[in-house]
Amino acid sequence: MLEILNWIGDQAPQLVAYELAALTTILAATIYLASILVRVVLNRVREQNRLLDAATNNMVQGLCMFDADNRLLVWNQRYVEMYSIDPKRIWRGCSLKDLLEARVATGTFPLDIDAYQADMAKKLNRGERFTITVQLPDGRVIAGVNQPMAGGGWVATHEDITERTRAERELKQAEAFLDAVIHHVPTPIVVKSVSDFRYRLINRAAEKFFGSNDRMVGKSAAEVFAPELAERIMMRDLEVLEAGHEVLFGEHLVPTTAGDNRVVSELRLPVPGADGAPQYIISVLDDVTQRKRDAARITYMAHHDSMTDLPNRIAFNECLESTLKIAAGNGESFAVLCMDVDRFKAINDTFGPVTGDELLRQMADRLADASQGAFIARTGGDEFAAVTPTGPQPDGAEALAERLRDTLVADFEIEGHRISASITIGVAIFPLDAADTTGLLANAEAALYRAKLESRGSIRFFKPDMDKQLREKRALQHDLRQALANDELELYYQPQSTMDGTIIGFEALVRWHHPRQGMVPPSTFIPLAEESGLIIPLGEWILRTACREAASWPKPLSIAVNLSPVQFQHGELVNVVHAALLETGLSPQRLELEITEGVLIGDFSRAMSILRRLKNMGVHIAMDDFGTGYSSLSYLQSFPLDKIKIDQVFIANLLNNPQSAAIVRAVIGLGRGLQLPVVAEGVETEEQRAFLARASCDGVQGYLIGRPQPIAFYAELVGRPSDKKRRLSIAS
Ligand code: C2E
Ligand code: CA
Ligand code: CA
Repeated sequence: MLEILNWIGDQAPQLVAYELAALTTILAATIYLASILVRVVLNRVREQNRLLDAATNNMVQGLCMFDADNRLLVWNQRYVEMYSIDPKRIWRGCSLKDLLEARVATGTFPLDIDAYQADMAKKLNRGERFTITVQLPDGRVIAGVNQPMAGGGWVATHEDITERTRAERELKQAEAFLDAVIHHVPTPIVVKSVSDFRYRLINRAAEKFFGSNDRMVGKSAAEVFAPELAERIMMRDLEVLEAGHEVLFGEHLVPTTAGDNRVVSELRLPVPGADGAPQYIISVLDDVTQRKRDAARITYMAHHDSMTDLPNRIAFNECLESTLKIAAGNGESFAVLCMDVDRFKAINDTFGPVTGDELLRQMADRLADASQGAFIARTGGDEFAAVTPTGPQPDGAEALAERLRDTLVADFEIEGHRISASITIGVAIFPLDAADTTGLLANAEAALYRAKLESRGSIRFFKPDMDKQLREKRALQHDLRQALANDELELYYQPQSTMDGTIIGFEALVRWHHPRQGMVPPSTFIPLAEESGLIIPLGEWILRTACREAASWPKPLSIAVNLSPVQFQHGELVNVVHAALLETGLSPQRLELEITEGVLIGDFSRAMSILRRLKNMGVHIAMDDFGTGYSSLSYLQSFPLDKIKIDQVFIANLLNNPQSAAIVRAVIGLGRGLQLPVVAEGVETEEQRAFLARASCDGVQGYLIGRPQPIAFYAELVGRPSDKKRRLSIAS
């Protein structure tokens, strides 16, 4: 402008009013144009500011911009609202510190101002964008993104990320939960992407098969498994994809990284993605290895005897059935052998059950070794059985039976004991003796029963009459069970006297009036009762009945009761005797218990202890059937008996057999030496009695003195008024 005026001054002489006016007009126009220009520019700036305000105030984020001196240049309404800042405390040019203090005042700045400022400064100096996330006391989470600007200063945007954070946290929790579930599921699970056939996940149970997550995840089957296995896996994947649904791959072997093979059945299924196309393949493995082993073990156990490891009765029956089927189909023959260990009970009682078990094990081993193709089983406690292969009989069975018998001849050595043991064998032949398994077994058992009666250690083949005997025996055993309840049993009494004929007591002898068979002798039914265990209640009944009877006698005569060895092995003999005495009021001194050597053969120490306890009660003990056993003398020494009864076979032969006479004299002498009274049994004649008197025997029992009779017959002898009528009717 100054230059224009100077130029006008220079031109003044030539340019007078006209030119001046023109210049003034130009100047005015220029000023006018400039003012219009300024207005336009200002309007545009205002418009831009308005747009900027509108934009900043409509942001969801809070915004503020600071200059290089931390002075506030720009901020938006959202920022003010977000931190509830008092509008009076925020102005253009206020410092960061002023602003933070305004936030502290509304409880929206939970940090230390100085530390925060220092931290900001440090980070801004680096010139990089950074985020500071703060949780406000009201629970909101705000993320502040700070962006340094080129010429100093920075822009900060503040965003409320509470919802996003919560959603993220929940997602993470859900993921962690699913992760924990998948990893703790004891079933192996493997997940693979369909896009690249790489493993995406294997849970812990699957790690046991395939090794760690690291080894598997992100790899393809070809990268971790041997080529054939990888190819098989790929084929399966393709099969599943083709099927479009789950596919079960039945039991197959899967090698593990531990080096063993597991039996696995596997379910593979495709999992669709959002577009419905298969995205993953999940494999769920079912490791059935242990289950299969257990099943095999159970089957084995169900068919084997755990003690001897021989096949058991179930396996035996199966073998018998299948052999019979084959033999019947081919028109062939075979044999069944039933075997019983001789005197096993006595061996068990003498040496104890541990030795007994070991003996059975050793016997089983020897029998199995000698079987040569025959099927050997343990069918019961001390029972074995065999099925021969099909072939000519009876030769095959005879050869097998002899081999089995002979293999047991050598003594067994068990825990320092030398034990000899043998078996008795019964044989039945298909189809000669029976055409079905039940018949064959029953007949082999009948042959065994007969063999045992005749001679232990023998072999007997079935004959038709054996079957009948065995059936009769079973029927009798059955009837005997009813007999006690049906009052078919009765006690007879046989008198015992001194040499001069004075009656000193009676022996109680049991009788069975069978409803159809009439009188069954005790020599028949006592062994049956012993075999079935019925002797326990029967013996108890005999004892109580005899004691009650004797207690009712006016004369205090003695009463002798026979005891079976079985009563010593089972039951509560001492208690039973004690109860019988208490119940009937019989004085113990009047009760005499007759035992045989059989009592002492089994568990000697147990028998001794029972006998001592009985003697302590005051009861007398007599040794019955003396002279027929084997080691009587040592027994006499080990237990203080009260009486010896010489067996009746010696008395029967007394006058015609010098050996019998010598034995009788010796026994009487022995009794004298041991100060034991000796009673002779079975005295039928006066001659026998006279001989015994001369030999200084102490007492006699026999038909000569009186037969076993119902007690009414001996009413007078026991001190009751006689019942002549009854006596006559019985005698006739
Ligand atoms: P035992 O204990 O030796 O009984 C004597 C047996 O000889 C009785 O046979 C008796 O009738 C018989 N007898 C007695 N005097 C004579 C005689 O002069 N001549 C002949 N030939 N025989 C005579 P019984 O009653 O048949 O008994 C047989 C066996 O049955 C008994 O032999 C005994 O071992 C057993 N027994 C009998 N009753 C019982 C009982 O109540 N309990 C037990 N456990 N066994 C019994
Ligand atoms: Ca007797
Ligand atoms: Ca006797």
